[in-house]
Amino acid sequence: MFKFKVADEVLVTVGRDKGRKGKVEKVFARENKLVVAGVNVYKRHKKVTKNQAAGIYEITRPVDVAKLVLICPKCQKQTRVGFVLEGKVKKRICKKCGGRLAS
Ligand SMILES: [Zn+2]
Repeated sequence: MFKFKVADEVLVTVGRDKGRKGKVEKVFARENKLVVAGVNVYKRHKKVTKNQAAGIYEITRPVDVAKLVLICPKCQKQTRVGFVLEGKVKKRICKKCGGRLAS
């Protein structure tokens, strides 16, 4: 089970976007990467093709999860994700306040 989910709020801890917060837009569990809104945005200059006009396009690239930390929606702190079993269902919890995270 992956620690991050779409719509989680995360904080960037290293790199050029350090200190920036954003919402998870996509999860690439196999690569351990997340696409986070407004983080790791690159500008690409593109030429005209059949489907698009020329210009500068902004592309959000996936960020390694090692560079991100979850912000708990309950206690608003940077936290790690833990798991608990409720019956047969695994739930994500905040390691700081113990609150249940969206799953
Ligand atoms: Zn918490």
